[in-house]
Amino acid sequence: MAETASPYIYPQEFDVIVVGGGHAGTEAALAAARMGSKTLLLSHNIETLGQMSCNPSIGGIGKGHLVKEVDALGGAMALAADEGGIQFRTLNSSKGPAVRATRAQADRILYKAAIRRMLENQPNLWLFQQAVDDLILEGDRVVGAVTQVGIRFRSRTVVLTAGTFLDGRIHVGLNNYQAGRAGDPPAVSLSARLKELQLPQGRLKTGTPPRLDGRTIDFSKCTEQPGDGVPGGDNPDHLPVFSFMGNRAMHPRQISCWITHTNTQTHDIIRSGFDRSPMFTGKIEGVGPRYCPSVEDKINRFADKDSHQIFLEPEGLDTHEVYPNGISTSLPFDIQYALVRSMPGLENCHILRPGYAIEYDYFDPRSLKSSFETRQIQGLFFAGQINGTTGYEEAAAQGLFAGLNAALQAQEKEAWLPRRDEAYLGVLVDDLITKGVTEPYRMFTSRAEYRLQLREDNADLRLTETGRKLGLVDDARWDAFCRKRDAIDMETARLKATWVTPRTLPKEESERVLGKAIEHEYNLFDLLRRPGVTYADLMSFQPLPDSKVQISDDAVSRETLGEMVEAVVEQVEIVAKYSGYIDRQKEEVEKSLHFENLLLPENLDYSQVAALSFEVRQKLTKHKPQTLGQASRISGITPAAISLLLIHLKKMG
Ligand code: FAD
Repeated sequence: MAETASPYIYPQEFDVIVVGGGHAGTEAALAAARMGSKTLLLSHNIETLGQMSCNPSIGGIGKGHLVKEVDALGGAMALAADEGGIQFRTLNSSKGPAVRATRAQADRILYKAAIRRMLENQPNLWLFQQAVDDLILEGDRVVGAVTQVGIRFRSRTVVLTAGTFLDGRIHVGLNNYQAGRAGDPPAVSLSARLKELQLPQGRLKTGTPPRLDGRTIDFSKCTEQPGDGVPGGDNPDHLPVFSFMGNRAMHPRQISCWITHTNTQTHDIIRSGFDRSPMFTGKIEGVGPRYCPSVEDKINRFADKDSHQIFLEPEGLDTHEVYPNGISTSLPFDIQYALVRSMPGLENCHILRPGYAIEYDYFDPRSLKSSFETRQIQGLFFAGQINGTTGYEEAAAQGLFAGLNAALQAQEKEAWLPRRDEAYLGVLVDDLITKGVTEPYRMFTSRAEYRLQLREDNADLRLTETGRKLGLVDDARWDAFCRKRDAIDMETARLKATWVTPRTLPKEESERVLGKAIEHEYNLFDLLRRPGVTYADLMSFQPLPDSKVQISDDAVSRETLGEMVEAVVEQVEIVAKYSGYIDRQKEEVEKSLHFENLLLPENLDYSQVAALSFEVRQKLTKHKPQTLGQASRISGITPAAISLLLIHLKKMG
């Protein structure tokens, strides 16, 4: 803890203090400040605000959905990805819209610069560089934070987003040392203070690969992987844009990634280091992400595979540094050196930074309220990696959520709690607070039961109006959103009101577009529902000149809508093609909503609920779910237990 002769109380008070300037902290601070709360972002180092600790990429399946939702609520991540993205791809582009996802390979310097600029230009937001060593408590309420040199900042709420830094310990082989991530100090005093407060916690671990000097890679032995929107890419005609406010002109120069692969020699080298692996010798106790395993873990678990693909991803436009995606490792450096050089194209490769694993404290998210406020300490909110998650996107989404709820509390307003059918953010929060984590949690589309309506493409239509009401969405975004929403509504209505008949549409025309002649009258919206028929197909219809049928419409034109025109057409098509399924899903949601939102009294005595098993009573007493829906998702709580609870609630009146 900070030792100081004379504590200094900072002369101004804040509504919200955010501790930590990673992906959670920056979104939290921006959100609170956008909502008009006087906000202070306290972080170790202003130079590392928005730093990507591991791979320089944003998005992917499930994660891209979160980024779009953060963006729809006025957040920074998607815009920074548009400014920093040096390779974009739409993943699953040939599959249904629910699982399509955007991924951007980012220049880490450009990305960080964009985040810093947004922070520095945000009204109501103050930045301060210092480690936070302690929290100021009055009774069971937090009222501020104390920095390393004893400066006491007072505030109504505090959002803690310390990432991998709390008692962080880096491992390379059997060597280990304390750090927050390579090159950054750990947060030891704050970790000790939080242990004193007895918040339920544990240890997790994550890892990163060695970084390579691109000048020493022979790319002619690797396979080139161009992105979308460039010749040779999977979708050469479509360069994705991340933010609903973004455009292609924001993207810097686009470059390729490369692919090499491990081989049996690589695997032998890796196995020869197992006896000095901190993972296999028990030096690391924390559990790592199963979906993002270290290379030694992969070789150990999938012993029958004799090759793994390794993506060589450039870290930026003005650096030779390359991120080898797929060889995250904490093996000793001599093994790292040999394993890298065993792969095609890397025979003479120079390593710029060793790979490592890091262990850190996390807090059991089941001890958080639905707003991410801790149950034990009023006004203290947790977000990001410290809640047991992994990934920039998961962190950013939680940061925005905790930041906005801290601001709402400071403004003495009710918390905002998105439901599972409204947003991946709702799924993320609900999963964390009801199920907790046994390993670092990452988002997948399979976690969302209502994924047909939780798509990347409609994140703004789902959330921007709410964001506007909360004060998160500025005038420019609101104006663009309204124009898009209105254009979709108008065009959908126009298609529904435009009829073609066998008399007005020549037989050859309907055969050309629909594959067969129409037998009676149809409106264009109904024709769009047919498999394989696109909006562009319909617009190419040439009705008989004297039929007075007007097919093309200027409302959806590039002149009026700019780049937004593609998004409008995409929405009209998706609504037409999937409306049957989406309507059914909406009905399901409506039916379940009554029980989902049924509030459970905070002081409910579960020992009085007739016929509940002892184990179920214990779990409910421990987790204190706020709604019946949350109770139903706690592991081990059966539908029968929920029925008993319902009967009890009815009896209580
Ligand atoms: P961080 O990005 O860690 O930010 C924490 C911030 O808090 C930093 O700015 C820090 O300086 C500040 N801070 C901490 N303590 C204090 C204090 N006491 N006072 C002031 N400031 C403080 N994610 C993946 O999805 N896939 C991966 O493969 C992956 N591998 C990783 C490997 C490594 C080695 C590391 C370190 C991280 C990895 N991650 C990976 C995780 C990813 O980096 C995090 O999920 C993400 O950065 C979490 O964001 P955050 O905002 O919660 O924390």
